[in-house]
Amino acid sequence: MDKDFNKADWEFFVVALKEEARDVLWSVQLDLDPDTLIKSALEDLQALAPRPDGYETRSRDEIWNDVRARLLQAAYALRPHCIRCGTCCEKGSPTLLKQDTELFVTGVLTPSDVFTIRSGEQVYIPETEQTVPSQTELIKIKETSDSRSCMFLDTSSKSCRIYGSRPEQCRRQECWNPKQTLQQDDRTLTRKDLLEATGDLWSIIERHEDRCSHDEFTREIARLSATKGQTVDDLLNMLAFDHHVRDFVRTNLGVDEKFLNFFFGRPLSQDLFYYGLSLEENEDGTFFLTTAQQEDS
Ligand code: SF4
Ligand code: SF4
Repeated sequence: MDKDFNKADWEFFVVALKEEARDVLWSVQLDLDPDTLIKSALEDLQALAPRPDGYETRSRDEIWNDVRARLLQAAYALRPHCIRCGTCCEKGSPTLLKQDTELFVTGVLTPSDVFTIRSGEQVYIPETEQTVPSQTELIKIKETSDSRSCMFLDTSSKSCRIYGSRPEQCRRQECWNPKQTLQQDDRTLTRKDLLEATGDLWSIIERHEDRCSHDEFTREIARLSATKGQTVDDLLNMLAFDHHVRDFVRTNLGVDEKFLNFFFGRPLSQDLFYYGLSLEENEDGTFFLTTAQQEDS
């Protein structure tokens, strides 16, 4: 231990450390004495302890974030297997891989169970808890409307309703191994893999992607700002096409409303929110843009 170590800080640290260890053990559902967990990472934890006044550059929050991360790592090392607690299923639904095609063939999944995140669309990353533009097209299982929980998670028992046929990403999920990533030869499933053979429907999806890609949408937003609103009609035309194509396949091809976010991704109008805008409809069916209402905090 550091020879300049402050004894009072250390004593406080030890008490708080036990509480934190108890909390971490509870979160990974490991029935163990907190001292055993602390001992398993003692050297690292001592190195993370607060330094005396004048030497410490980290805030208390930073110290505790590091301590908690180290305790969590130690807890997972003592429990390196899945206990089917459902915690990862509550943080977000899986992205489907090419190998998951079979789940549609066997009827485990239907078009109403999934949605598409188109290339360039904002996507939430559970591991980092951040929203970033997606580099590729992704198909994901739907989440419940009031949370990020996968729709197949039975919330009362915390169990998966399709466990025996769960997607590949769920099979590989290892919360005790957070650095685990997709393998290099993995390919995410796309709409083309599943829908190319549908003929007319696939042509409409391609036409929609041509006119309403997220890259094009982002460019239109940038133009709108650069021209101080003069190109608003181009943006509105794109938004109107995105809206009407959904109506068209519903009324003319009899496509179920619940399939639309899989076939065409989520409506572009939802992304206006990120730019402080929202889309409104006039009585005659035309659209206009307004400033988005901020939600009360
Ligand atoms: S992988 Fe998921 S279900 Fe399994 S123990 Fe970890 S958080 Fe729980
Ligand atoms: S499919 Fe099952 S295992 Fe996978 S995230 Fe959903 S509930 Fe969890």
